[in-house]
Parts: sequence; structure tokens; C-alpha cells
Amino acid sequence: MSRSTHEVSNQVPEWAGFNLYQTDRPLQEGVAREGAPWHDEALGRYGAQLGLKDTIALARDANRFKPELEAFDPCGRRVDRVRFHPAWHHFLGMAFEQGMHSSAWANPQPGAQVARAAVYLLHGQIEAGSLCPVTMTSAAIPILQKEPLFSTIGPPLYSRQYDSRDLPVEQKTGMTIGMGLTEKQGGSDLRANTTLASPLGVGGRGEAYRLTGHKWFFSAPMSDAHLVLATHEEQFSCFYVPRWHPDGHKNPIRIQRLKDKLGNCSNASAEVEFDGTHAVLVGEPGRGIVTLVKMAAYTRLDCILGSTALLRQGLVQALHHARHRKAFGRLLIEQPLMRSVLTDLALESEAATVLSLRLARALDNTDDPLEQAYRRILTPAAKFWVCKRAIEAVGECMEAWGGNGYIEEAPLPRLYRETPVNSIWEGSGNIMCLDVLRALKRQPELADLLGTALLRDCADDALLNSSAHQLLAVMSEAGPVQDACARYVAQELVLLTQANLLRRHAPAAVADGFIQSRFGGRGGRVFGVTAFKPATTGVLQRAWPL
Ligand SMILES: Cc1cc2nc3c(=O)[nH]c(=O)nc-3n(C[C@H](O)[C@H](O)[C@H](O)COP(=O)(O)OP(=O)(O)OC[C@H]3O[C@@H](n4cnc5c(N)ncnc54)[C@H](O)[C@@H]3O)c2cc1C
Repeated sequence: MSRSTHEVSNQVPEWAGFNLYQTDRPLQEGVAREGAPWHDEALGRYGAQLGLKDTIALARDANRFKPELEAFDPCGRRVDRVRFHPAWHHFLGMAFEQGMHSSAWANPQPGAQVARAAVYLLHGQIEAGSLCPVTMTSAAIPILQKEPLFSTIGPPLYSRQYDSRDLPVEQKTGMTIGMGLTEKQGGSDLRANTTLASPLGVGGRGEAYRLTGHKWFFSAPMSDAHLVLATHEEQFSCFYVPRWHPDGHKNPIRIQRLKDKLGNCSNASAEVEFDGTHAVLVGEPGRGIVTLVKMAAYTRLDCILGSTALLRQGLVQALHHARHRKAFGRLLIEQPLMRSVLTDLALESEAATVLSLRLARALDNTDDPLEQAYRRILTPAAKFWVCKRAIEAVGECMEAWGGNGYIEEAPLPRLYRETPVNSIWEGSGNIMCLDVLRALKRQPELADLLGTALLRDCADDALLNSSAHQLLAVMSEAGPVQDACARYVAQELVLLTQANLLRRHAPAAVADGFIQSRFGGRGGRVFGVTAFKPATTGVLQRAWPL
């Protein structure tokens, strides 16, 4: 007769069946406040769909069964295809249905960017790899809208039907667009690019060229087209490179291999070569870097949103675990030190949420000068700060799960491996901070506006007021000394803005806790270090009410 060895006890119930939107108060309030209350119901439906056990299981599959390169057919002919697990296509189908790739351009109503940002914040919690093609497609649209070829690609770009087939765009119901900038010799320094463009005729905007060269990082290689940076007569221009040649044959974009990545595993990132590859010049000739940098305001916001989503899901998982797991006779959530850690994480998550929705609103109000300052100065600063904070925060959430958090069946390892990429691509941390300084220098009127608004908003709080004055003193210095302080400038701009947003829009316990821990000189360099007992109950209940 067999005897059971033990009973399974004190293990946490599976996290599934929750509505991601309706359990997220800061997100719901932000959506209403920043201009998209009309999207509330749709977000509720999507939040429920994402929280389903089946959806969560599919996300795991999409990342466990990584994309595979099919460079050749069985007879040795090049096909340059990528084979994905069906779960990948499922998530892209969901994203397309929500309009994450185009809704802000197809229906540019007030709050359109905020509504899209909120969908992104939900989707990114469950499957983050599919955000990459969605982001690049959305960011490419404002560039391509101005080009004659938009009459052909506009309808499939705006379509909400995801179409994974490898066919010329004219035969497809939906399409995606990628970006190819980074080469072996340089990614931050785009002037190091060597891919050559030769005109087939007179050359110029809308004209056909042939590309010869390579790209070292080329994500979503199965996209129907990429925007690629290449040089002609020592000037950089932006090119539209379709997957299929207008003559009906495959455009030679040779996939050399797929990157074996730390995270972001559901998505494919390739190394490619161009050999007489057909391309059409878009934007002003010789202004390719400027053209592509315009996309950066959108892609950088999406990095902030992606990291905010990962941080939120890490926090939710940590709170869920702490509410069910006991140690030393008490639930983890009842232990004062664990409460400090979780509270600190909740403050970080809410601060990231208010800021990212506020930055999304800045994209909805394109003409207002203060909104321009949010886009041009605060967005790169936030890309640096939020993406970095999420890496540390998700690691802390993993630790709240103890040993189980480190095991692949848990959701934390995937979240943890996913977070650093948002900090690296679309401009790494230092590049973001130097970009903040560049914007302050080149657009002093925006810098003044932002500085004046910060001083005004901080005036009635002693801690914030003194930090704001210190920051403005450093910002007014020039030259290489200031370059060395670029991370400080970006950090303080973000923290002060987050503090003011929380003071205005969050309960007092959240705002006070944030200001005390970030400006009171008692916060630590890791989460949960505090020399006083923080107010925890309201903050934790608000962060995850279940
Ligand atoms: C998974 C993944 C997918 C990607 N997909 C794409 C894609 O689809 N398309 C694409 O074009 N690129 C893509 N990239 C590339 C990415 O954008 C680059 O890796 C990134 O821009 C950094 O460029 P680099 O790798 O050449 O690093 P480098 O430019 O060599 O920079 C290395 C480090 O030095 C720092 N640094 C650089 N200059 C300075 C300076 N002046 N002062 C201080 N610090 C400095 C940077 O911040 C960085 O931390 C992808 C990257 C990854 C990891």
C-alpha cells in the first residue's frame, strides 16, 4: 500500500481569471483624467480577456517555443522566412483587433494616444514580445502618411485584421512595419552607418534605390516592410524597404541568423544583408536621421509603457503571493518589513503609471508648448528612468516569491528577462540622458517653460522646492561638466514630475510616501529601505485590492 509523503500546503493559488483593468485603480483614474474615458468599457473587456487562464498559457507558449529561421527551402532556394508558434500570431491578432498598431492615427480623436497607451499597459503585462512590431508599425505611420506610397499601404496599415501571410502588401488585409538602423559598427552613433543607397534613376523623394549593406539588429524580420537608414553621397536618408519587390518577387533581404536573446523570446530579431535590395526614399533626402528621430518620440513612449506594464505585473504577482504565503506563522503581507518593500514597489508602479499616461496625453496635444516640452525633454528622461527602475523592481518582485520566483514555471523569470531590453533599444540610458541635455540646449524656450512649471508646482513643498532649485542650477551650467551630470538631470526631472503628478492625482498616502522616500533623504538605493514606518495599508489596498 502506498503512503503519501506529504500534503501540499502554504502554496499560493494560481494567478488567473482577474480583470487587469478593473483591478488597476491608478490606470482607470489616469485614463479618465488624461482624456480617454470613452475607452473605459473596451479596456474593461480587454483586461478580462488578457487575464484569462488560457491567454496566460498562450503567452507562456509564445515565449517557450522560440521563432525559428527558415533561410532556405528544401531545394536550397532562399526563402528568408521565420516560423513562429501559433501563440505569437494569436497575440498579434489581439493587438491588431485593439488597434494598438494604428488606432491613434486612423481615428485621431482627443485622447486617442492615451486610449492606445492604456491598451498597451494591459497587453504588455501578459505578452511583451508582440509589442515590438506593434510599436514600430505605429511609429512609422506618421512618417509614411506624408508619402505618395501611403495610398497603397494606408488601408492595410489601418486595418484591424492581422495577416501573417508572406505575400505582397497589395494582397494582404493587414501589414506590419519594422525599423533597421543599427549596424555592426554602431547603433547609438547612426552616422557610423555604411549601408549604401544607389538611385535607379534621378533619385529623390519617392524614387527607387538599391541598397547594399547590412543591419546588425533587425527586429520583426517578417514585417511587410522596414524603414531603413542608408547613405547616398555621404548623406543619410530614410528608405521604405518592402519584403516583396514591386515586380512580384521576394526583395533580397537576406536573414543571416536570428539573435539568441536573453528575453523578448517570442519576438524574432535578425541580422540581415541587403544585396541590390529595392527601396524607396521617404522623407527629405539627406535628412534620414531627423526623419527617424521623429519616430523616436513614439517608440520611446512605448518603451516607458512596456516597462510600466512589466513593473505593474511584477507588483501584482508579488502582492498576490504575499497575501497567500505564510512564514513564521504570519502571512508575508502582514510582516512589517515585507510591507515596506511592497509599498515602495507600489509607489514606483503608480508613479510610472501616472507619468506614462501624462506623456501619452502630450502626444494628443501636439501644438501646446508645454506639451512639446513633455514630448521633447521629459519623454527621453522618463525612458531612461522608468526602464531602469523597472529592472530593479521586477527583480525585487521575484524575490518576494522566494525560491518559486526563480523557477521557470513562475511568471517572474520571463518578466525579469524582458525588462532590460526597454532600457537598451530605442536609445540606451546614457543616450537618453544626453538627448535630454541636447533638447534643453537646442530648445531653451521649452527648457524655460518646463523649469518654470516645475518651480511653480514644487513651491509649496519644502523638499520638492529645494530639489527643484538644485536641479535648475545644474541645468543652467553648460559644457562637458553638465554631460557628466546628465543622469542626475534626467532622474530629477522625472522624480519631481512624478511627485507633482501624484500630489495632484493620487491619495495623500501615495504622494506623501513617494516624496518622503524619494526626497526625504531616508530612502535607500534598493526598494524598501526606510528609516521610518511608512503608511502601507491604503497604498497596498489601492495597488491590488484582491
Ligand atoms: C533585442 C534587441 C532588438 C533590437 N532591434 C532593433 C531593430 O529592430 N532595429 C534597430 O535598428 N536596432 C535594434 N536594436 C539595436 C539597439 O537599438 C541598439 O543596440 C542600441 O541602440 C545601442 O546601440 P549599440 O548596440 O550599437 O551600442 P553602442 O552604441 O555601442 O553603445 C554602447 C553603450 O555605450 C553608451 N554610449 C554610447 N555613446 C555614449 C556617449 N557619448 N556617452 C556615454 N555613453 C555612451 C550607450 O548608452 C550604451 O550603453 C535592438 C537591440 C536589441 C537588444
